[in-house]
Amino acid sequence: MSEKMAWSQLIRDVPDFPKPGIIFKDITPLLADGEAFSAVIEEMAALVDGRVDAIVGIESRGFIFGAALAQRLGLGLVTVRKPGKLPADVHAVEYELEYGVDRLEIHRDALAPGHRVVIVDDLLATGGTAAATVKLIEMLGAEVVSCLFVIELDFLEGRKALAGTAVASLLHF
Ligand code: IMP
Repeated sequence: MSEKMAWSQLIRDVPDFPKPGIIFKDITPLLADGEAFSAVIEEMAALVDGRVDAIVGIESRGFIFGAALAQRLGLGLVTVRKPGKLPADVHAVEYELEYGVDRLEIHRDALAPGHRVVIVDDLLATGGTAAATVKLIEMLGAEVVSCLFVIELDFLEGRKALAGTAVASLLHF
Protein backbone atom coordinates (compact mmCIF):
# COMPACT_ATOMS: atom_id res chain seq x y z
CA MET A 1 0.00 0.00 0.00
CA SER A 2 1.39 3.46 -0.88
CA GLU A 3 1.94 5.91 1.97
CA LYS A 4 -0.86 8.14 0.67
CA MET A 5 -3.32 5.23 0.54
CA ALA A 6 -2.34 4.40 4.11
CA TRP A 7 -2.92 7.83 5.64
CA SER A 8 -5.96 8.69 3.54
CA GLN A 9 -7.72 5.66 5.00
CA LEU A 10 -7.44 7.28 8.42
CA ILE A 11 -9.80 10.12 7.43
CA ARG A 12 -13.29 9.09 8.42
CA ASP A 13 -16.69 10.34 7.25
CA VAL A 14 -19.02 11.36 10.06
CA PRO A 15 -22.57 11.81 8.76
CA ASP A 16 -24.83 14.61 10.01
CA PHE A 17 -22.08 16.61 11.73
CA PRO A 18 -22.19 19.47 12.66
CA LYS A 19 -25.75 19.44 11.28
CA PRO A 20 -28.07 17.08 9.42
CA GLY A 21 -27.07 16.44 5.79
CA ILE A 22 -23.37 17.31 6.21
CA ILE A 23 -20.75 14.56 5.95
CA PHE A 24 -17.82 15.74 8.05
CA LYS A 25 -14.28 14.64 7.15
CA ASP A 26 -12.78 13.74 10.53
CA ILE A 27 -8.98 13.88 10.60
CA THR A 28 -8.56 12.89 14.28
CA PRO A 29 -7.70 9.22 13.50
CA LEU A 30 -4.96 10.45 11.14
CA LEU A 31 -3.54 12.77 13.83
CA ALA A 32 -3.51 9.93 16.33
CA ASP A 33 -1.27 7.82 14.07
CA GLY A 34 2.36 8.96 14.28
CA GLU A 35 3.46 7.53 10.93
CA ALA A 36 0.45 8.90 9.08
CA PHE A 37 0.77 12.36 10.64
CA SER A 38 4.47 12.51 9.71
CA ALA A 39 3.76 11.32 6.16
CA VAL A 40 1.24 14.16 5.73
CA ILE A 41 3.69 16.76 7.04
CA GLU A 42 6.44 15.44 4.73
CA GLU A 43 4.07 15.69 1.74
CA MET A 44 3.15 19.26 2.70
CA ALA A 45 6.82 20.20 3.18
CA ALA A 46 7.60 18.92 -0.33
CA LEU A 47 5.07 21.42 -1.72
CA VAL A 48 6.72 24.47 -0.12
CA ASP A 49 9.00 26.04 -2.66
CA GLY A 50 11.15 29.15 -2.81
CA ARG A 51 11.58 31.79 -0.09
CA VAL A 52 8.95 31.53 2.64
CA ASP A 53 9.18 33.60 5.83
CA ALA A 54 6.35 32.09 7.88
CA ILE A 55 3.51 29.58 7.92
CA VAL A 56 0.03 30.97 8.63
CA GLY A 57 -2.28 28.48 10.39
CA ILE A 58 -6.05 28.96 10.44
CA GLU A 59 -7.91 28.16 13.71
CA SER A 60 -8.19 25.46 14.72
CA ARG A 61 -7.19 22.39 12.71
CA GLY A 62 -4.91 24.59 10.60
CA PHE A 63 -2.88 25.18 13.78
CA ILE A 64 -2.15 21.46 14.09
CA PHE A 65 -0.84 20.96 10.56
CA GLY A 66 0.58 24.49 10.35
CA ALA A 67 2.61 24.17 13.55
CA ALA A 68 4.05 20.80 12.57
CA LEU A 69 4.92 22.07 9.09
CA ALA A 70 6.50 25.27 10.45
CA GLN A 71 8.64 23.25 12.85
CA ARG A 72 9.62 20.82 10.07
CA LEU A 73 10.74 23.75 7.86
CA GLY A 74 12.37 25.76 10.67
CA LEU A 75 9.84 28.58 10.21
CA GLY A 76 7.63 30.52 12.59
CA LEU A 77 3.86 30.12 12.85
CA VAL A 78 1.40 33.02 12.56
CA THR A 79 -2.09 32.31 13.87
CA VAL A 80 -5.32 33.52 12.25
CA ARG A 81 -8.00 33.26 14.89
CA LYS A 82 -11.71 33.48 15.58
CA PRO A 83 -12.95 36.76 17.07
CA GLY A 84 -11.78 37.85 20.50
CA LYS A 85 -8.98 35.29 20.89
CA LEU A 86 -5.92 37.37 19.96
CA PRO A 87 -4.88 39.71 22.80
CA ALA A 88 -3.11 42.56 20.99
CA ASP A 89 -4.26 44.92 18.18
CA VAL A 90 -5.86 43.04 15.29
CA HIS A 91 -7.08 43.44 11.75
CA ALA A 92 -10.38 41.64 11.09
CA VAL A 93 -12.14 40.35 7.98
CA GLU A 94 -15.77 39.23 7.84
CA TYR A 95 -16.85 36.52 5.43
CA GLU A 96 -20.12 34.92 4.38
CA LEU A 97 -21.25 31.56 5.71
CA GLU A 98 -24.23 29.58 4.44
CA TYR A 99 -26.25 31.28 7.18
CA GLY A 100 -24.81 34.55 8.45
CA VAL A 101 -21.27 35.86 8.66
CA ASP A 102 -18.11 34.90 10.46
CA ARG A 103 -14.96 36.83 11.24
CA LEU A 104 -11.25 36.08 11.40
CA GLU A 105 -8.50 38.14 13.00
CA ILE A 106 -4.72 38.52 12.80
CA HIS A 107 -2.34 40.52 14.98
CA ARG A 108 -1.38 43.75 13.24
CA ASP A 109 2.29 43.12 13.98
CA ALA A 110 2.25 39.44 12.96
CA LEU A 111 3.80 40.09 9.53
CA ALA A 112 5.58 42.95 7.81
CA PRO A 113 5.35 44.22 4.22
CA GLY A 114 7.29 41.94 1.89
CA HIS A 115 6.99 38.84 4.07
CA ARG A 116 6.13 35.74 2.05
CA VAL A 117 3.83 33.19 3.69
CA VAL A 118 2.15 29.83 3.10
CA ILE A 119 -1.38 29.42 4.49
CA VAL A 120 -2.24 26.01 5.98
CA ASP A 121 -5.61 24.50 6.86
CA ASP A 122 -6.94 20.96 7.11
CA LEU A 123 -9.68 21.29 4.52
CA LEU A 124 -10.79 23.52 1.63
CA ALA A 125 -14.58 23.58 1.23
CA THR A 126 -16.18 26.76 -0.22
CA GLY A 127 -12.95 28.72 0.20
CA GLY A 128 -14.49 31.50 2.35
CA THR A 129 -12.18 30.87 5.30
CA ALA A 130 -8.99 30.78 3.24
CA ALA A 131 -10.02 33.79 1.12
CA ALA A 132 -10.59 35.83 4.31
CA THR A 133 -7.12 34.74 5.50
CA VAL A 134 -5.55 35.90 2.22
CA LYS A 135 -7.21 39.31 2.76
CA LEU A 136 -5.84 39.57 6.30
CA ILE A 137 -2.31 38.80 5.10
CA GLU A 138 -2.61 41.37 2.31
CA MET A 139 -3.83 43.98 4.82
CA LEU A 140 -0.40 43.63 6.44
CA GLY A 141 1.36 44.10 3.09
CA ALA A 142 2.61 40.51 3.12
CA GLU A 143 2.41 38.11 0.17
CA VAL A 144 0.70 34.70 -0.01
CA VAL A 145 2.97 32.24 -1.81
CA SER A 146 0.38 29.45 -1.69
CA CYS A 147 -2.46 27.87 0.26
CA LEU A 148 -1.92 24.26 1.36
CA PHE A 149 -4.66 21.88 2.47
CA VAL A 150 -4.71 18.25 3.49
CA ILE A 151 -8.16 17.75 1.92
CA GLU A 152 -10.03 19.58 -0.83
CA LEU A 153 -13.74 19.05 -1.51
CA ASP A 154 -13.57 19.61 -5.27
CA PHE A 155 -17.34 19.81 -5.78
CA LEU A 156 -17.56 22.97 -3.62
CA GLU A 157 -15.14 24.77 -5.97
CA GLY A 158 -13.25 26.56 -3.21
CA ARG A 159 -10.44 27.35 -5.66
CA LYS A 160 -12.73 29.85 -7.36
CA ALA A 161 -12.78 31.94 -4.16
CA LEU A 162 -8.97 31.81 -4.17
CA ALA A 163 -8.48 32.86 -7.79
CA GLY A 164 -5.05 34.43 -8.24
CA THR A 165 -3.52 32.41 -5.37
CA ALA A 166 -1.65 29.12 -5.83
CA VAL A 167 -3.57 26.26 -4.17
CA ALA A 168 -2.37 22.72 -3.44
CA SER A 169 -4.14 19.88 -1.63
CA LEU A 170 -2.87 16.41 -0.79
CA LEU A 171 -6.19 14.64 -1.18
CA HIS A 172 -9.28 15.40 -3.29
CA PHE A 173 -12.88 14.26 -2.79
P1 IMP B 1 -14.75 26.85 3.80
O1 IMP B 1 -14.56 28.23 4.36
O2 IMP B 1 -16.13 26.60 3.32
O3 IMP B 1 -13.71 26.52 2.75
O4 IMP B 1 -14.56 25.83 5.00
C1 IMP B 1 -13.29 25.44 5.42
C2 IMP B 1 -13.18 25.49 6.91
O5 IMP B 1 -14.21 24.73 7.52
C3 IMP B 1 -11.85 24.94 7.35
O6 IMP B 1 -11.31 25.75 8.39
C4 IMP B 1 -12.18 23.55 7.84
O7 IMP B 1 -11.45 23.22 9.01
C5 IMP B 1 -13.66 23.58 8.15
N1 IMP B 1 -14.38 22.41 7.59
C6 IMP B 1 -15.41 22.42 6.75
N2 IMP B 1 -15.84 21.18 6.48
C7 IMP B 1 -15.03 20.36 7.14
C8 IMP B 1 -14.93 18.91 7.25
O8 IMP B 1 -15.68 18.13 6.64
N3 IMP B 1 -13.93 18.44 8.03
C9 IMP B 1 -13.07 19.25 8.67
N4 IMP B 1 -13.15 20.59 8.60
C10 IMP B 1 -14.10 21.14 7.85
